[in-house]
Amino acid sequence: MIEMTERIDGHTILIGLMAYPIRHSMSPTMHNNAFAKLGLNYAYLAFEVDNDSLPSAIQSIRTLDMRGSNISMPNKQKVIPLLDKLDPAAEMVGAVNTIVNDHGTLTGYTTDGTGFMQSLKDEGLDIRGQKMTLAGAGGAGTAVAIQAALDGVKEMSIFNIHDEFWDNAKRNVDIINEKTDCKATLHSIEDKDDFKKEIQDAAIYCDATGVGMKPLENETLVTDPNWFRKDMIVFDTVYAPRTTKLMQVAEQAGVEHVFNGLGMMLEQGAEAFKLWTGESMPVDYIRDLLF
Ligand code: NAD
Repeated sequence: MIEMTERIDGHTILIGLMAYPIRHSMSPTMHNNAFAKLGLNYAYLAFEVDNDSLPSAIQSIRTLDMRGSNISMPNKQKVIPLLDKLDPAAEMVGAVNTIVNDHGTLTGYTTDGTGFMQSLKDEGLDIRGQKMTLAGAGGAGTAVAIQAALDGVKEMSIFNIHDEFWDNAKRNVDIINEKTDCKATLHSIEDKDDFKKEIQDAAIYCDATGVGMKPLENETLVTDPNWFRKDMIVFDTVYAPRTTKLMQVAEQAGVEHVFNGLGMMLEQGAEAFKLWTGESMPVDYIRDLLF
């Protein structure tokens, strides 16, 4: 391992993280430790950037010849018109979490969905050709839905409550049916019989809502273990707490494959790392270091 003082010199290439608030993020620790482990001459720094300062912050990627940046809330959508190109998946998701700077040309990517799919692969699981039931259509839900459909999930039942994300859920269903071979349908979380049936029919149930995370850490959308089959996958995108209420219900049901969102978080970072450096992040090393 190469210490930071030995590593950073006149050639060090900067990568940013632009969001607000952002001081709590684990991404700087993840990326800087991965650079150090591989002896790569990059540095990753978090910058407090809101919608107002975003245009000049994005321009600074070009000005300072940074290799790129991660983008998080509240900038994931607002950044799109400021970029030169969009990866097709980012275009379908309508959000960007990673920017790559190729000699002044900025391309936007989304790696949350690929991170989700890769985290399943890491566990030896393949959901292509199968059915997924998904709760949520916000940032995480949209990225998961679009990437799973692009990667070959055959059928997807998307559930949401009738809040401000309902139209987003509708949009996700339409775009998946229009642009992929996956057959998507829209459902209401309030219809419990339908929710139960669609979960029981699926190879994987993924919860990509904020339920299970603070301030809803004592809640779960599924409270009855009988809704689950032992041979299915139950995936909660939440990673704090490590074991959510949903995971407890799934474990009670004896479900074989129960996951929190840590693997997804790690792999979305690894996807971005690869886009910037061309190298594979030492994921196991970083997992041991962080968790
Ligand atoms: P968001 O605000 O964009 O979307 C929130 C979603 O939750 C919407 O679909 C909304 O309708 C739904 N929702 C909110 N309250 C609800 C309730 N009481 N009952 C049912 N549904 C409800 O948020 P986001 O950025 O998509 O984050 C969602 C979750 O995903 C969070 O828990 C976050 O921690 C997690 N996440 C994980 C990763 C990862 O890498 N593991 C990445 C991004 C987000």
